[in-house]
Amino acid sequence: MTSDIFGDPIAQDLPEPPQDGPGLFGDPAPAPAASAPTVRAPAAAAPAAPDSGASAPAGTPYRVLARKYRPASFADLIGQEALVRTLRNAFAQGRVHHAFMLTGVRGVGKTTTARIIARALNCIGPDGQGGPTPEPCGVCSECRAILADRHPDVQELDAASNNGIDDVRELRERLRFRPAQGRFKVIILDEVHMMSNAAFNALLKTLEEPPPDVKFMLATTELRKVPTTILSRCQTFRLARVPQETLRAHFARICDLESVPAEAEALAMVARAADGSVRDGLSILDQAMALAGGEPVTTGLVTEMLGLADRGLAIDLMEALMAGDTAAALALSEAAHATGTDPAVVLSDLLELVHLLSRMKTVPTLKDDPALPEAERTRGAALAEKLGIPVLARAWQMLLKGLAEVAQDGVNRRAAAEMVLIRLAHVADLPTPGDLVRRLTEAGPATAAPAPAPAPNGGGGGLRAIAGGGGAALAMAAPAPAALAETAPQAAAPAPMPSSFREIVALASGRKPSLHAHLRLNVHPVRISPGRIEIRPRPEAPRDLAQQITALMQEATGTRWTVSLVNEGGEPTLAEQGKTAEADRLALAQTHPLVQAVLAAFPGAKIEAVRDASLDAYGLPPAMAAEMAAAGDGRDFAPPDAESAGLDDDLSQED
Ligand SMILES: [Zn+2]
Repeated sequence: MTSDIFGDPIAQDLPEPPQDGPGLFGDPAPAPAASAPTVRAPAAAAPAAPDSGASAPAGTPYRVLARKYRPASFADLIGQEALVRTLRNAFAQGRVHHAFMLTGVRGVGKTTTARIIARALNCIGPDGQGGPTPEPCGVCSECRAILADRHPDVQELDAASNNGIDDVRELRERLRFRPAQGRFKVIILDEVHMMSNAAFNALLKTLEEPPPDVKFMLATTELRKVPTTILSRCQTFRLARVPQETLRAHFARICDLESVPAEAEALAMVARAADGSVRDGLSILDQAMALAGGEPVTTGLVTEMLGLADRGLAIDLMEALMAGDTAAALALSEAAHATGTDPAVVLSDLLELVHLLSRMKTVPTLKDDPALPEAERTRGAALAEKLGIPVLARAWQMLLKGLAEVAQDGVNRRAAAEMVLIRLAHVADLPTPGDLVRRLTEAGPATAAPAPAPAPNGGGGGLRAIAGGGGAALAMAAPAPAALAETAPQAAAPAPMPSSFREIVALASGRKPSLHAHLRLNVHPVRISPGRIEIRPRPEAPRDLAQQITALMQEATGTRWTVSLVNEGGEPTLAEQGKTAEADRLALAQTHPLVQAVLAAFPGAKIEAVRDASLDAYGLPPAMAAEMAAAGDGRDFAPPDAESAGLDDDLSQED
């Protein structure tokens, strides 16, 4: 941050202002004696617009664009309409505050505005008779002196280097004297937030009631660091970031004045890089013109100069990523690296593109915005059409996270960036949770067609939504069908008497653990009727099995049961039945369209377990017979609106 010297677009014959800028404390402006009489140039030689650029004499030292085209009047200030209107009105009505606070991003025109105000305050008009005016004439001695940065009463102080209490004391001393030449002393304090608290306090009184011929112009990029006591004594103006399109048009005008041809797209890139700052933009433009060496300023040149990734690259990359084509994405990143593009730049370009696509999604007319590069208007719009907001939001989060990873110390930036791309490519083609639910419910159980398979995955291996372990199994709440006609009344009735083998086994549960285990594992039920149990024990069963069962039944039901052992026949043991039932459920689940759709949507997923809340402790539905019947006619095991709980956490985080 160096000079804030006024450019001098009008008078060719004036000496150049000193390079270092004026007016720190104790730095009086040079005596105006020598040049003051000579500055009475004819009014015709002083048009408002700076137009002397290209035809500058060979001997004239080069002036950077930012100085050469520094606005000299309110009319020249670009992108600050609100500020200009307020100031014009204030001058027109003679209500000019004694302290202004100008805030805005660097290079947006804060000190320039302060200097225009200084001229507006001090201008005496071409005839030497005028008063303060919103339209400083630019030709009177005051205007010229301020423009040339040698007005004794207009002092610019860099608060960053004059931030102590002694500096403020010295300033106050100087303010006791009347203006040496002009109507007002104008004190421009730049970067005022850098002042110490003591300095702020010392300034307060002066700021509140300055001598009548003193005006303060405070400027800062960080308004919130300025104490409110200071702010409450100032009229605050926020200088807006200059819109890209305004900047682009401004740069185009300057290129015309400089007779340097430039591609519109290249200027748009400069405007984007300027990020709302006129001075930054002009510095970039300066550099680009120097690099072009008289040739037109092209997009290629600006790209190379700024180390920007080609705008097309971001779109190419985005297309590859969203198609899940990891190989293509890595090749593109490789190519960008070869041209010296920083990996973080690639990611932030992608981030910017995602933002743009999201905006296009919500504001479709954006694709007609002339501020956008051609590629983004056409290809971007097509891409935005294809992608949903949830997908874009997910990409945004991943890129944001990825950028932080790339910025970490001690990380191979390129490797980190590539990992981000790989992650993006893998997740990009997966449906979002909301999408999935909609797709699944729309597909419904009636239509057996599974959801469309995702695009081929370059690196292979989709995300395993239902990975083994970690308890991430897809738990389908699957109430059993109400097909329990024959046995349901029996089972549901509050029968004191057990009517099935399972109920008999259940009686042992909790009472006789050992017997319970044997009944479950080692006993084939043959025939069960009230008061009578016929079973075939396996060799592992205890010898006194019959007596144990008899005792159990006596105890549990209060009646005597007959237990007979046979050597053949009978159903599978309860443990075997449970295993078979589980396999059946799995097979049944596999054929369900809902599950098939899930499996198609998540390649590599597998059914880990089918949990059925209606099953009893033995993993069996209330009645085996009914369950078998249901399996036989291929009935659905879950309604279409079955709750798909327990989706993988990674997938649900965006919603
Ligand atoms: Zn004037």
